[in-house]
Amino acid sequence: MGYLNLLNACRTGTRALGPGLRYVIWVQGCPFSCPGCITPEGREIEAKLMTTSESVAEDILSRPYIDGLTVSGGEPFLQSASLSDLIRRIRTVRPNFNVIIFTGYRLEHLTWHDAEDLLSLADVVIDGQYREDLDDGIGLRGSSNQRILFLSDRLTSYKDEMEKGCRRRDIEIRGAETLFIGIPDKKGH
Ligand code: SF4
Repeated sequence: MGYLNLLNACRTGTRALGPGLRYVIWVQGCPFSCPGCITPEGREIEAKLMTTSESVAEDILSRPYIDGLTVSGGEPFLQSASLSDLIRRIRTVRPNFNVIIFTGYRLEHLTWHDAEDLLSLADVVIDGQYREDLDDGIGLRGSSNQRILFLSDRLTSYKDEMEKGCRRRDIEIRGAETLFIGIPDKKGH
């Protein structure tokens, strides 16, 4: 079991952050400060919604209609060990469950042990810091400097859609809170 510090979660599923119906967690805390970041409230390294990999895995596994998990942030690789534990717990029951991870790090910089372990479990990593000036409104990444890297073959059949498709957004209303899910269409494409 590992502790997870989350900014938020979409537990019922969205189609706005990857193929199929996806559970999404936004982790809290990021070492970067990209101008135009769409989740500035997730950057501070402070405790927000504290939970465990065991609890999140149980919640995901209780929802058999969920196709995959997207991890965004904040910076997921600051919580690599707990995220690896989460994915392993899910795959013990659902071996083909797919995982997409957004990170501000470039893949070649994710060289510490826990990061490499998490990479070994990820199917797609979308890497690099967001660049507002390179936001072309296309695909499942915020700006064209970011790479959509397929680290397994679980999602390769969606490569074109993920690289060149239109962005989607979902809105989830929870009482007084409105949660915007997906990558905003900055330039109106
Ligand atoms: S890496 Fe992501 S969360 Fe961190 S500052 Fe950049 S856009 Fe925001």
